[in-house]
Amino acid sequence: MLTALALAVTAALSAGDALAAGQVTRLTPPSELFRSGQAQPVIASFAPGQRFDLQATIQPSDGSPVTAVKFTVDGVPVRGQPTLTTTGLVSGLAPASAVASRRAYSTLRPGMHTLKVVATQANGDTVSATGNFRVEPILPGGRKVKNVIIMVGDGMGATHRTAARVMLSGYTQGKARSPLAMDTFPNTALVKTASLNSIVTDSSPGMASYVNGNKQANNQEGVFPDDTTDAFDNPRVEYLSEYLHRTQGTQLGILTTADVFDATPAANAVHTSNRGAGTGIVDQYLDQADQSGLIVLMGGGRKWFLPAGTPGSARSASSDYVLPADLAAGWGVPAGAKDPDRDLIADFTAAGWAYAANKTEMDGAGGGKLLGLFSYSNMNVALDKIGGRRGTSTVVQDVGFPDQPMLDEMTAKALKVLDANSPHGFILMAEAASIDKQAHNMDAERWILDTIELDRAVKVAQDFANTHPGTLVIVTADHECAGAAIIGASTVTDAVLQSKTGPELQQVVGQYEAAGFPRYTIEADGYPATTDVDHKMLIGYGANADRYEDWRSNARPVHDTQQPFDGQAPLSGYPAINAIDGQVASLGRPLRDQAGGYLITGQLRGITAVHTATDVPLSADGRGASLFGGVIDNTDVFFRLVQAVTGGVRPMRDDD
Ligand SMILES: [Zn+2]
Repeated sequence: MLTALALAVTAALSAGDALAAGQVTRLTPPSELFRSGQAQPVIASFAPGQRFDLQATIQPSDGSPVTAVKFTVDGVPVRGQPTLTTTGLVSGLAPASAVASRRAYSTLRPGMHTLKVVATQANGDTVSATGNFRVEPILPGGRKVKNVIIMVGDGMGATHRTAARVMLSGYTQGKARSPLAMDTFPNTALVKTASLNSIVTDSSPGMASYVNGNKQANNQEGVFPDDTTDAFDNPRVEYLSEYLHRTQGTQLGILTTADVFDATPAANAVHTSNRGAGTGIVDQYLDQADQSGLIVLMGGGRKWFLPAGTPGSARSASSDYVLPADLAAGWGVPAGAKDPDRDLIADFTAAGWAYAANKTEMDGAGGGKLLGLFSYSNMNVALDKIGGRRGTSTVVQDVGFPDQPMLDEMTAKALKVLDANSPHGFILMAEAASIDKQAHNMDAERWILDTIELDRAVKVAQDFANTHPGTLVIVTADHECAGAAIIGASTVTDAVLQSKTGPELQQVVGQYEAAGFPRYTIEADGYPATTDVDHKMLIGYGANADRYEDWRSNARPVHDTQQPFDGQAPLSGYPAINAIDGQVASLGRPLRDQAGGYLITGQLRGITAVHTATDVPLSADGRGASLFGGVIDNTDVFFRLVQAVTGGVRPMRDDD
């Protein structure tokens, strides 16, 4: 973390001024002690024995090379010689700057610790800096949790939950007719989601903090920031999956309705400072499966698994990885290779994984390790998948993947495989990714149905926990998306709504008692017969971008630039949200809902709505659920999971 003084020094240095004294301008793990001299708040905490990298950026005086670096913890020298990196550093550092790393450090001793670095330069000068970190104690002797199931609604704030309940079960005289599955979880907490560098996080640190107990910068997962340009050499923090696999043989399953290279799935097993580096991210899933315990990986993202040059492939050397020798050796992982021509699906099957390209193959797959890739990039959302199954929509055909599973079906399959192959327990992370993506798109019907899809998967997980004692299930979000709000309901029928244009569309928003109780009919498949009911629920957005709105559902989702064939028919005819999207001009994309002529001006300039800093709810059920309550930080969740699995829980209630 660069202190104010360090920034000034860097600025001076970049002006080529010779420095009276060298400077340590970054000390990792991050601390307020290093940054501002304050011992509190403690920024970095670890579980006993959890591995993490120590690192320092040294900007020497007078361009005199750094010749030696020593890390001490609580005054005791850290074993092993730190490696010095002087090439591939970011621009703006002083001449002869160096990054000193000590990989995969850990300590079992609970409590506060003081980290010190001392660097010696060729001219005899020394520079030093001090930081701190904590090791959280684990209370032994409780009843241990064997399986941890983390259900993530990406972007799912309290509003997203409420809207799903209004649509799925409805209210009568103020009472919900029936609860969501996640409503039935006995323990609830409120989670603070800020990242290392902002009150508004993105999904990388938003997820990673839950499973490694530390803050990370936006767009970075499983790592602390550094001063090199490489996206895969950053100082690492061991994930829950790696920590438990190494210490007790726990297995890992990762499910998402997004592309599996995406931030949330990756932030459970992959370490990178660039959430966009897809080739390297998916290669690490297999290359480091022996470290993470990964045996189930399902979602979209086939484009990263196809050799470069294959139609639809996105593999490239520029997004691939090769690890520095010290990191590979320190963490005991393969160094990797720049191999865009790699056939990753073939490599998975050669490593004993079954491969499923669609729901039918997933259902038919045996009980062993399972890779499922159900789309080139993000999977289609529930509204479009269900529309495809009902024969009322062609969206899944347009994308070329008509047989995609629902998240609850993927969860059921994953639990079968994990239960059969995890004698020492497992961690399953299942993500409903497009609550976020469709909230970004301000497409209410699509994110509400994806929240319903998540709740069906939550029910599958809850049922599993009820029949497999020692299973803990938590449902939460990495952050809130779009500042969504249920602003009321339509005062008119759908037929009348269709005739409304311009300011009339503002007037149909029924406020307070005029909202009443919107009522949706749910089909046997668990989803509404139509989302365009009379007097439908209406949604507004606090973090919105410009959009046209007619309050009615759209047959086609907003186009997705992640899809490799997004620019070709039929996808090239899919709508954009507003004219800031360059493809409106370049491809003549239509603007969604423009015909209604009701433009709602955004509070921010952009193509989509954005994340907010709002706390998010967390629900917990099963053994260890009682550990979750109150207002907590996202990093606290990790330590409560470690306590539940390695220390156990003392029964608070009979069924705990
Ligand atoms: Zn998002």
